[in-house]
Amino acid sequence: MSNIPPLDLKRQYQAIGADVSAAVLEVLASGAYIGGPLVKNFEQQFATYIGTAECVGCNSGTDALYLALRAMNIGAGDEVITTPFTFIATAETISGVGAKPVFVDIDLATFNLDLTQLAAAITPRTKAIMPVHLFGNPVDMTELMSIAAQYNLVVIEDCAQATGAKWQGQPVGRIGHFGCFSFFPTKNLGACGDGGAITVNDPGLADDLRMLREHGSRERYYHEAIGVNSRLDAIQAAILQVKLPHLDLWNQQRATVASRYHQLLANIPGIITPQATPGGESAWNQYTIRVVAPVGMDTADPRDRLPTLRDRVRASLLEAGAIAMIYYPLPLHLQSVYADLGYAVGSFPNAERVSQEVLSLPMFPELTVEEQQRVVYALKDAIDTCR
Ligand SMILES: *Cc1c(COP(=O)(O)O)cnc(C)c1O
Repeated sequence: MSNIPPLDLKRQYQAIGADVSAAVLEVLASGAYIGGPLVKNFEQQFATYIGTAECVGCNSGTDALYLALRAMNIGAGDEVITTPFTFIATAETISGVGAKPVFVDIDLATFNLDLTQLAAAITPRTKAIMPVHLFGNPVDMTELMSIAAQYNLVVIEDCAQATGAKWQGQPVGRIGHFGCFSFFPTKNLGACGDGGAITVNDPGLADDLRMLREHGSRERYYHEAIGVNSRLDAIQAAILQVKLPHLDLWNQQRATVASRYHQLLANIPGIITPQATPGGESAWNQYTIRVVAPVGMDTADPRDRLPTLRDRVRASLLEAGAIAMIYYPLPLHLQSVYADLGYAVGSFPNAERVSQEVLSLPMFPELTVEEQQRVVYALKDAIDTCR
């Protein structure tokens, strides 16, 4: 029996590959590889999908976050609040513009920012909040926007893992001031390479984002800011245009996979299944369980990298042919790169705890029932032998 991968992009290509290849060949024949009508059309299509007035394509989700911060002139001396339990790109962009990331612990049930702890982290230097809809699960945007309005803060949504997720019926990336998306191949809407986009309602901000992504110029060879080269390639735009109409169905299929896991994993001692934020509709980029060790079994310091119960369960799953992933093994406040921020073990107990417990099971729209059953069977077996 072959291994069950965390995700299998070949299956998607088998289903829609002919359309994707045709779109790529058209771009190759057109001779227009950078910019042009294809990129504009995709930007318009994506803005319509999210429900914003504007969309600005760029090179990656990382650049989308960076450009949003730059467009708000956030930099040295400023603070931006975000979660320590996310991919490095989130905080990296805050540091990249010269500002300081300020972390707030997460809620154990949703893996997202604990909004009850947000206000305490706000200082006169705070300029923005960067919530992450982690694993596709939306943050409570109603509560977050109300806190942001109270303190006059910009909200830059990291939607990299949540394309198509909804908060109270509205797509994420539409509610905050900026929606930042990644089209990295493993995301819900993936290109065949790097790509990203920013959704925004304010046309002036959209113009500024376009200026910044284009070497700081609105008119070619006249530069008003130190910008970057961060464009969405025509080939990627053409591929994304083919894929976007399938996204809602793929996300529904992910939701079906998730509810099957919920059923299969219900009432297994030591396993906590993920819960969508009430009021939200997850895009299920990941199905991430917590493998909870009996008291005293695991260490408290994630930096020592001693294998936890979760790690042993993962190894045992691998032997049975199911590949599970760890997103993320070390919270950002304990990363060596952020040693100078002054955080320590114990600063964010929830993030530290889940970093030792999380296990993301195979999750993609085409995952079959039989494969899921194999994963769950192997998981039950692994829990029994490792505990
Ligand atoms: C993938 C990801 C990013 C970065 O996107 P890239 O397109 O890879 O640059 C940012 N934030 C989160 C939460 C991500 O998962």
